[in-house]
Amino acid sequence: MTSASSADLFTRAQKVIPSGVNSPVRAFGSVGGTPPFLTSAKGALLQDADGREYVDLVGSWGPMILGHAHEGVVEAVREAAGRGLSFGAPQPGEVTLAEEVISRIAPVEQLRLVNSGTEATMSALRVARAATSRDVIVKFAGCYHGHVDALLAEAGSGVATFAMPGSAGVTASTARDTVVLPYGDREAVTALFAERGSEIAAIITEAAPANMGVVTPPEADGIGFNRFLSQTAHANGALLISDEVLTGFRASREGYYGVDGPTGVAGADDAWAPDLMTFGKVIGGGLPVGAFGGRKDLMGLLAPAGPVYQAGTLSGNPLATAAGLATFAGLDEAAYETLGAASSTLQQLVADALTTAGVPHVIQSAGTLFSVFFREDPVTGYADAKAQDTAAFTRFFHAMLEAGVYLPPSAFEAWFVSTAHTPEVLDRIAAALPGAAKAAA
Ligand code: PLP
Repeated sequence: MTSASSADLFTRAQKVIPSGVNSPVRAFGSVGGTPPFLTSAKGALLQDADGREYVDLVGSWGPMILGHAHEGVVEAVREAAGRGLSFGAPQPGEVTLAEEVISRIAPVEQLRLVNSGTEATMSALRVARAATSRDVIVKFAGCYHGHVDALLAEAGSGVATFAMPGSAGVTASTARDTVVLPYGDREAVTALFAERGSEIAAIITEAAPANMGVVTPPEADGIGFNRFLSQTAHANGALLISDEVLTGFRASREGYYGVDGPTGVAGADDAWAPDLMTFGKVIGGGLPVGAFGGRKDLMGLLAPAGPVYQAGTLSGNPLATAAGLATFAGLDEAAYETLGAASSTLQQLVADALTTAGVPHVIQSAGTLFSVFFREDPVTGYADAKAQDTAAFTRFFHAMLEAGVYLPPSAFEAWFVSTAHTPEVLDRIAAALPGAAKAAA
């Protein structure tokens, strides 16, 4: 255990690590201040190097759905570690993990494991381009799909937090092959396909956007947005890639596909399915895992049987699959009820505190996932998400941190609860909220 303070560690870190962090949002760049350096975590609680304790609402950005240091997960990793850290050869856990994902998500017939969500979306794009012999990818403003060159334009998450239009270092030709449209804008999608349909390999979308804050896919004429995208892509010989890296196995037991997938919209009778899907976060239980999967004919394009190359020294790592499988073992119907109840209670607590303090806000959810926007009107896309009172969020964030609640340090991120967010834990958050709401006002 270190005895250095967070401030000391941050000073040292900034000398040897760019901005002192290994992923941008962690630097507290948009909210200011020194990020706490975390030394341990258990359940819903975090401990930092300064001896402080926080209730965690980040959950490592999604994976810690059963809470930190969950006994079953830790024991599974310990047991796997005793049998070897990495084989670089097939091992049983990767088969069981693929079977578990496939058993929950009907459109996934085959799955490949990788090491991050970024690798998953990058590989899915490659398969889509190979399958269609086309180059152009359509994405939506405010959606984040990892730091794949082709997908950084008008992206969410840290790219939104730091108001970056894209990233330097992405070649002009790569950027030219990506078309960015406003989220939820069916006319823009239809017009683009009318003009350039024969060039488009795939549409990639977050199943429910959660990296500009949470946006529910809009319905129109009884058709959900995801189903509309699937129909439009297919009518033009293109594919739909549904990115469930964040929503997968969190929004519901079957991810966001379980919320709107089977029929696209409640009451509709025609099923739809994405061609390829991407996963990460929850499926690794806190260890580095991503996955992409989908139709067998598309996944069959992968090497060695097919012409699309994709590989990984540590892919299907036995510790990672053990953590993922132990996490899935804890994710039964009761767990989703607990998550749903914690999420609803917290949303109500936040709404009550902000309303009492007169702070404009809107809370949006997708299954058990939610976020709080500091503005009055609903957010339907990136322009709305950007038009919120980020200064009010910053005051709220720091007051919550001071009161012992660790929120995502950005107004553009979802809040993550876990099954360890018991009523007692929620009481601690409830106690912090009135003061923070007052600070935001
Ligand atoms: N796709 C979505 C929807 C994400 O939310 C993220 C990460 O937050 C990614 C892809 C990238 O995953 P990773 O950070 O594991 O590369």
